[in-house]
Amino acid sequence: MISYREAIARVLDLARPLSPIALPIDQALGLVAAEDVRAAGPIPPFTNSGMDGYAVRAADVARAGAAPVRLRVIADLPAGAVAAHDVGPGCASRIMTGAPLPPGADAVVPVESTEAVGEEVEIRGSVRAGANVRPAGEDIAAGALVIERGAALRPGDLGVLAEIGRVQIAVHPRARIAVITTGDELVDAAEEPGPGRIRDSNVHAVCAQAASFGAVPLPRARVPDRPEAVREAVREALAAADVVVTTGGISMGALDCVKDALDRLGAERLFWRVAQKPAGPLGCWRLGGKPIVGAPGNPVAAMIAMEEYVRPVLRRMMGHDRLFRPEREGRLETGWRRREGDGRLHFLRVLVREQDGALRASLSGPQGSGILSSMACANALALVPPEVDEVLAGGRVTLHLIEEVEDH
Ligand code: AMP
Ligand code: MG
Repeated sequence: MISYREAIARVLDLARPLSPIALPIDQALGLVAAEDVRAAGPIPPFTNSGMDGYAVRAADVARAGAAPVRLRVIADLPAGAVAAHDVGPGCASRIMTGAPLPPGADAVVPVESTEAVGEEVEIRGSVRAGANVRPAGEDIAAGALVIERGAALRPGDLGVLAEIGRVQIAVHPRARIAVITTGDELVDAAEEPGPGRIRDSNVHAVCAQAASFGAVPLPRARVPDRPEAVREAVREALAAADVVVTTGGISMGALDCVKDALDRLGAERLFWRVAQKPAGPLGCWRLGGKPIVGAPGNPVAAMIAMEEYVRPVLRRMMGHDRLFRPEREGRLETGWRRREGDGRLHFLRVLVREQDGALRASLSGPQGSGILSSMACANALALVPPEVDEVLAGGRVTLHLIEEVEDH
């Protein structure tokens, strides 16, 4: 049995960033840029008005604060229009936000400080040169680095790419993860289970986790507890995916055939069994350079295996540098005691909330590996290392925040 840290290190060692592909920006949200992108030209591309109003020569209206000044209106410039005439002394052009500033003008008087009088406009306030004008390049200078390789693309980044006319970008693709559930007792969630049977919930929860991690889940046909069936399913899944996850059939039971199936498939076993709870019988193999993670079938164990092991693997494949959830210190309000000296790291399902700047965690429900409801409502995992037998109420724990902390 190896430690959690050692197991994570071994599984991560298998993961390499997937080769970049070019994608339309509208498909790139959350993906990691595989290239530096520079702006070819300035943004905004031309000097333009920041207000609806009148483009003027600031010198003409220097005294308008004391007494209104009248200017002759020579043009009307909506956004998208380009001025045909310069603004000469004593003149102004009506202008809308975003229209190019006409030559000759050096400021814009907001419409609120003006009154149109026939062919003229009365200016009732002075402006300094440059007032309400947005110079070309004030946002992004020509040649500026707008996206750095390695950055996870956010909505604003995609807007910037669109501004500079980059409608495609090289990114690391979403990792494809095949999910194979095993177990003779399982039926489809849509079916009425017969005596002794239960619905396959893992395929749904695990695929949803994969999707929430930004990967592409590929749910595969469920397989019975037969080594040949597992072998065949894994072989086919490997051809379709970058990572394969199986659930169930990996413990000590007589029918637990996933280990043997993978060994016989010729996969290299990196570990089996980790000193942790849930998900102690977790195993990891490699075949054709691809990781195969064998997770236990208990629904909580499967989800914790996904969260703690598979998520970092997927993130590394998708080019992220930050592989892990935020790790924070918090206080366990309910306290917890180890049943026996089992020498394992325990992941406790907890609900964390922030109070006076500190994180306070309480158990989200009973902690059995089959109790999915307490996983469903947890927003963090609290880690109790093997050497700690008891956490007193209010004692410190390390938290893995598996979703944003909200004020529940
Ligand atoms: P196993 O790891 O195959 O020994 O399964 C451990 C427990 O998890 C058993 O109670 C199984 O019935 C249950 N289980 C296994 N696979 C699934 C699944 N896909 N969905 C829901 N429960 C499962
Ligand atoms: Mg089973």
